[in-house]
Amino acid sequence: MPVRTAFIYSQEFSKFKAYKGYPWLFDRSEVTYQLCNRLQLFDRDSTEIHAPKPARPEALLSFHTKKYISLLKKANQGKPDEEWLRHGLGTTECPVFEGVYDYHALAAGATLLGAELIDQDKADIVFSPTGGFHHAGTDFAAGFCYINDIVLAIKNWLRRRRRILYIDIDAHHGDQVQAAFYKTSKVMTVSFHESGHTLYPFKTGFASEVGQGRAKGYAVNVPLPENTGDEEFLWAFDRIFLPIAQTFQPDVVVAVLGTDVLFSDPFSSLQLTNSSVSQALQTILQVSPKLLALGGGGYVRENIARTWTLAWATMNHMGPNDEDLAAFGGVFWGDGLSSLSDRPHFLPDNLKRKTQTEIQKVVSALERTVFPLLKIRPQRRK
Ligand SMILES: [Zn+2]
Repeated sequence: MPVRTAFIYSQEFSKFKAYKGYPWLFDRSEVTYQLCNRLQLFDRDSTEIHAPKPARPEALLSFHTKKYISLLKKANQGKPDEEWLRHGLGTTECPVFEGVYDYHALAAGATLLGAELIDQDKADIVFSPTGGFHHAGTDFAAGFCYINDIVLAIKNWLRRRRRILYIDIDAHHGDQVQAAFYKTSKVMTVSFHESGHTLYPFKTGFASEVGQGRAKGYAVNVPLPENTGDEEFLWAFDRIFLPIAQTFQPDVVVAVLGTDVLFSDPFSSLQLTNSSVSQALQTILQVSPKLLALGGGGYVRENIARTWTLAWATMNHMGPNDEDLAAFGGVFWGDGLSSLSDRPHFLPDNLKRKTQTEIQKVVSALERTVFPLLKIRPQRRK
């Protein structure tokens, strides 16, 4: 049977606006949908497009507090409330704007729909670009995130006794997903991100955070130094993610594919190209019986469109070097880009040596600390 893929999309997402200068791109699903459509990437018999409905308020309470959700609902009108700041609302990174609840409830609904399609065995691979709000806490908003769609989806799957692997590739640490499942060995959380020494959320995401109690070894962090390039990232990804996933043997995998890891994103100092995202995704696909992929961060519209279109092509086994795709990409962009993939991004040797040394230290530390807990034998050094 061919792999059944589903894309979650609604024009509704693009109708929202915060204020001029707020960097969140509300049309992230729209630009991805449009480019995929233009490249005929939905034209498979086993591909479906689904429109989400907003998550019901009760569905949000499996993670969020009643008080926080009722405050967020009130914030939907944009009227000030003195309690906002105590819950991270009304800040520059989580402003209150008209429709703030509606937008985030719809995003959560999109992720929950994806989780349901997988749960009911109606799809094998689902992609919801407006998802991956990994910084939202039980009773607070943080870092552009208000409702933690990822935790909600995982909690739903846990009711069905699934073994869940969460892989977060985004410039920022998936802090609140890690926190939610820090004490359970049923959910393995793995996050690759720019180190907290140089990037938000600063306080978490270090290699020493490995889970608690019986769940020791079930939280894995690979903090990457500034200027990490494709080669260094992919080396670490294969050394750490692959053996962990193969050992854990998940029933389902949730992946966040933030485009803020790209060298051209203004919010991080990583130096990856979108080929890294696509190649890491190919590895993820190898170990995922079922996959729910979510967008995550990303603050350059073109990066979002190209990277997530490339990701969708990868999920549908249309290789990034597919000739048709390359030709379409060239025609569409008309700016010298010959394909969806970034051109190779070269970094000076001295910089590469520095990041290689730092990443090797992190990988060695994880092989010493986490691998024995999971009974994984480290690979021989290549
Ligand atoms: Zn991010």
